Amino acid sequence: MSRIIATAAIRGAHAYVEKAQTQLQQAVETLGPDQKVEFPNTAYYLPLTLALTGLEVTTLSGAQKALERAQQLLPPVPQDNMWLPYLGNALDAGVATLLAEEIIEVLKYVRGEEPEAPWLGFTDDSVLRTQGIKLVDGRMPGFAACVGALPTNEEAVELARSLQERSILVFMASNSNGRSMAEQLAEEGVEMSWDTFLVPYGKDTSAAVFALNFAARAAMTFGGVKPGDVNAARKILMYNKERVFAFVLALGSDMEPSTNGNQLLTDEKYATAAGAINFGFPVISDVEIPQILPRGICTYEHVVSGIPREEIVNKAVEVRGLKLKMSKIPIPVPYGAGFEGERVRKEQMQIQFGGKYTTAFELVRGRPMDDIQDGHIELIGPNIDSVEVGGALPFGVVIEVAGRSFKEDFETVVERRIHEFVSGAYGVFHMGQRAIVWARISKEAYEKGFRLEHYGEILIAKMREEFSAIIDKIQVKIVTDAEQMDAPLEEAKAVYRQRDERIRGMKDEDADTFYSCILCQSYAPNHVCVVTPERLGLCGAYTWLDCAAGFEMNPRGPNQPIKKGQTLDEVKGQWKGVNEYLEVASGGNLERFNAYSMMEDPMTSCGCFECITAILPETNGVMIVNREHEGMTPVGMTFSTMAGQIGGGIQTPGFIGMGKLYISSAKYISAEGGLERVVWMPAALKEEIRERLVERLEELGKADLLDKIATENDATTSEELLAFLEKAGHPVLAMEPMF
Ligand code: SF4
Ligand code: ZN
Repeated sequence: MSRIIATAAIRGAHAYVEKAQTQLQQAVETLGPDQKVEFPNTAYYLPLTLALTGLEVTTLSGAQKALERAQQLLPPVPQDNMWLPYLGNALDAGVATLLAEEIIEVLKYVRGEEPEAPWLGFTDDSVLRTQGIKLVDGRMPGFAACVGALPTNEEAVELARSLQERSILVFMASNSNGRSMAEQLAEEGVEMSWDTFLVPYGKDTSAAVFALNFAARAAMTFGGVKPGDVNAARKILMYNKERVFAFVLALGSDMEPSTNGNQLLTDEKYATAAGAINFGFPVISDVEIPQILPRGICTYEHVVSGIPREEIVNKAVEVRGLKLKMSKIPIPVPYGAGFEGERVRKEQMQIQFGGKYTTAFELVRGRPMDDIQDGHIELIGPNIDSVEVGGALPFGVVIEVAGRSFKEDFETVVERRIHEFVSGAYGVFHMGQRAIVWARISKEAYEKGFRLEHYGEILIAKMREEFSAIIDKIQVKIVTDAEQMDAPLEEAKAVYRQRDERIRGMKDEDADTFYSCILCQSYAPNHVCVVTPERLGLCGAYTWLDCAAGFEMNPRGPNQPIKKGQTLDEVKGQWKGVNEYLEVASGGNLERFNAYSMMEDPMTSCGCFECITAILPETNGVMIVNREHEGMTPVGMTFSTMAGQIGGGIQTPGFIGMGKLYISSAKYISAEGGLERVVWMPAALKEEIRERLVERLEELGKADLLDKIATENDATTSEELLAFLEKAGHPVLAMEPMF
């Protein structure tokens, strides 16, 4: 390591350890040595301290012990012209720095200083599991810890976009002369969250420690490294060096106020960088700092500096050896997984399709080889240009595919990926599936030249890329002419119906294997749909057959077979094999699951359920509300309020998200009495599923129940509802209590 950097890093480490010492002392004086010390929702104590020292810090006095370790590591500050023969000293200083920084950051929580917007602070374990797994299994090629700021907001946005486009996770911390990259992005209205791959940790340089304690936990969670073992610290650092392709971008902006002569970054930054180098994360900088090119810890250069900003991402990728899988799609906007979670708000919108504004649907169909003109995109109706800003168009998207080994069963699996594919385009928002699609295109994307043919280009490029094993030819038709929507819409509805019919008649008892779907874990950590022949995935798009096909097409994909194994509870629908699978797939968060109960260990909900069943204690029954229903419901909440409370991948006894088809299933909350518990549902939903509902009620010999189920026309409050039920003589009033 260059002498200048080493000296600055060691000086910075001393400063950090002293600062931690002072703050810790103050905390002990005011709160006492037994005061609890913890980050929110983690089982790893102070994760980096645990990883590097094996110490399980839970109190202020525990933190003092950790800090003693840091002090022991501190090398003496070299005299100005002293020659440092090897890297070791500066690296030890780096570790001491990280330990001190973690204490400084956790003390903020101890003092009750929660991070303020846009800062997110510590990453908890559940986010770590969903996001970290993507880093170690290669879905995200790596992460960039951006430290400091850029000279202008535009350059900050450009840097963020080019990292997002490469699906590289971006952590932001620190500042340059009081400016920080995250603040620059916030000023430009860029959406920052885990969903957009832009994670602002904190404005202090010490907040960069969150990126490293994330990396350390990844090694402990996914790499199976046990902290405290002999060599654990080394193993954790090696795991990161080999598996987590991360790098630090030290952004100088102008020049830092220098604490000593010719340096361009602060001592604190050098010290933190030395900590990162221990993890094998190289430091790339846009300012001229002394380079450290020879290889030592890293299998590549440690510090590469003076890189022009427009080349800095490519340089980092090259130095750290990231394996990038970038889709080449001929569209005028950036494309990458980092844009998937981005919304297009109303004010940003050029045009929208579907939702509650127009008719929209999407359909994937297998066709004979000769019927497909490969790569062809046909637009039937007006393009975006012909609609005024903020307007809407109908939107029928028919994707026709052919392939020697393509099966009809694969259609839904391909269809469900549309969401992910089109959402990856910057400025395109997409939600829903089948005939409840809702899409938006932003003004910015429009101004860059994005038109509907590009929507088709995305679908073609991504489907070729992802389904090359089953799709040889593909064409896309987009219908925006209201008058020409009818025929394809009718076809689509008939196909949806056929698909739904195919699964009917199958019983859970006949299957020894269920399937999982964990597609939604991308945003709802720990959520697992357990899909059985009689209970489809809660988004309504995946039946047991679809999942079986999904597994056949991609044996390592989101649908995995689950052997039921020993039956633990026939009535509630609990099996040993399912519990065991769930424990693993939920990252240890769920132990038990009842397929047929909404009151005890029910299924988790992600966010894309078609309906919610909610308990109405006053009536001894339940209500069902579908996504399309905007009005108030007897539980006192609208669909969207309730959805916000039960989503996110948690079990909420008394509430389940579910697919519409499940309502007429014989296994619909059968542990609680099934359909006879239902006292309310919106009229439109009742109409939509009437046929199947009547059939099911006739099977039960309760055909008269249909009219005893209230709608919003009969009641919207629980008092009105109770009066209605009494008058109608609803059987629920005589059933045994739900609790
Ligand atoms: Fe899969 Fe369930 Fe998400 Fe549907 S809701 S995509 S079935 S995880
Ligand atoms: Zn979902």
